[in-house]
Amino acid sequence: MARYVFITGGVVSSLGKGLASAALGALLQARGFTVRLRKLDPYLNVDPGTMSPFEHGEVFVTDDGAETDLDLGHYERFTGVPARKTDSISSGRIYMNVLEKERRGDYLGKTIQVIPHVTNEIKDFLRIGDDEVDFMLCEIGGTVGDIEGLPFFEAIRQFAQERPRGQCIFMHLTLLPYLAASSELKTKPTQHSVKELRSIGIAPDVLVCRSEHPIPEKERAKIALFCNVRPEAVIPAYDLTSIYEAPMAYHRVGLDQAVLDAFMISPAPRPDLRRWEDVMERLNHAEGEVRVAIVGKYTQLEDAYKSIAEALTHGGMANRVRVRAEWIDSEIFEDADPSPHLEGFHAILVPGGFGERGTEGKIRAAKWAREKKIPYLGICLGMQMAVIEAARNMAGLKDAGSEEFDHEAGGKRFTPVVYHLKEWVQGNHLIERKVEDDKGGTMRLGAYDAHLAEGSLVARVYGTTRIEERHRHRYEVDLAYRDKLEECGLKFSGMSPDGRLPEIVEHAGHPWFIGVQFHPELKSKPFAPHPLFADFVRAAVETSRLV
Ligand code: GLN
Repeated sequence: MARYVFITGGVVSSLGKGLASAALGALLQARGFTVRLRKLDPYLNVDPGTMSPFEHGEVFVTDDGAETDLDLGHYERFTGVPARKTDSISSGRIYMNVLEKERRGDYLGKTIQVIPHVTNEIKDFLRIGDDEVDFMLCEIGGTVGDIEGLPFFEAIRQFAQERPRGQCIFMHLTLLPYLAASSELKTKPTQHSVKELRSIGIAPDVLVCRSEHPIPEKERAKIALFCNVRPEAVIPAYDLTSIYEAPMAYHRVGLDQAVLDAFMISPAPRPDLRRWEDVMERLNHAEGEVRVAIVGKYTQLEDAYKSIAEALTHGGMANRVRVRAEWIDSEIFEDADPSPHLEGFHAILVPGGFGERGTEGKIRAAKWAREKKIPYLGICLGMQMAVIEAARNMAGLKDAGSEEFDHEAGGKRFTPVVYHLKEWVQGNHLIERKVEDDKGGTMRLGAYDAHLAEGSLVARVYGTTRIEERHRHRYEVDLAYRDKLEECGLKFSGMSPDGRLPEIVEHAGHPWFIGVQFHPELKSKPFAPHPLFADFVRAAVETSRLV
């Protein structure tokens, strides 16, 4: 039976609960324990699949094909444990499950209520896989006191009450604001937040206090006294220059020790922190810098490409350089020469995306990188744009395009070099979709195998010809154009095992031009940079030496 740590937040949002949870997971692993991290989100969307990346940040896809919150990306990057469908749930999904059961008659005509039906559904979710790991870390989204969050708080209270004593602890994150006028840290919001938590029956065992200034011992003792927490369990959390400092920083201030103490695990196993020491060493001793342009659409909100930004950082760590990623809105050069915007970059990355807006600019960016022999990594839509570019400008298919744009515009304007995929094979199953299914959850999602061509650039980069990567898309490059494109030099160097779906393309005469139909960024970790990102940054370093 796993021990549970419930992580909640108070005072304000965006305190870094996800990061604290992920860092705690990494520290427990360093002490030899197995962990799994979960996110419970109070919003009413059934999953984040249909939420705008502008608002909600990127959608993180798991191997088993779930579209989840970007916090699961943090969890994976810090622990290396592949997230699963059952690691994230929203109020919307909980209510949907309850209502489906009600419609089926599973409740035998009873009146359905938040307590016990909704809370039971949440507790059932919490119990999934609890015999698989030593620690289950469950983060509750939002802040204590939010109306939507109440059923989750009630459910974790009940859950802890039902388990044997000492099996569950509560960790609460708050903020200590600093008043410059009186030069002091204020503890009152924290006290109120804990009071709120205790009023619903949850007494925190560990308090993590975000603060921009050092927390004096006197204040720490005061928080402990007023919040009924042991002084050693009041953990300061100061601002960091890199998120990857979090495990070491939290270890130094005693977070993992406080958690183990709360579980009365004594003596605590000694931590082996070499993995994180190495990560820090690489981060702090970068030599030189490369500039990478990310040419995309959701450039206002960096979280929209969270995993890409992180994977580039990992690629930099692999090469001991700093990667300066700059977001460029592709709409700026829809009908113009991209040179003024792209000149000076050592590599170009075109990420995934949906819809026609901005795609002409992305096609121009692909052309520019091909002609100037600048390293190019096209991810998902970025690969499709590279194929359309080659079809138009090398194979003479002047009106090459994607069916996605025709569907959107409701007419037929393009030769569909990229077409809507209606059936495909996953493992031993044939999966079918209709165009009208064009809503959430109808994509090719999750992990698929690919076979790489011997002697190709990608086979060298991966060091193998068999890979597995995560997908999230509806459209696919049409095999019918393969011969024509290969004659022009665009090689189909990665294919689905049945040979029907192009997974990777690369330009033969180019030092580093790769398009991938999947999302390699989702599997990159600071301690295990993804080979494509590591080699892409290496190629960028080489370009930087030439100029
Ligand atoms: N819009 C494209 C498709 O659905 C690409 C998706 C993506 O980049 N994730 O195929």
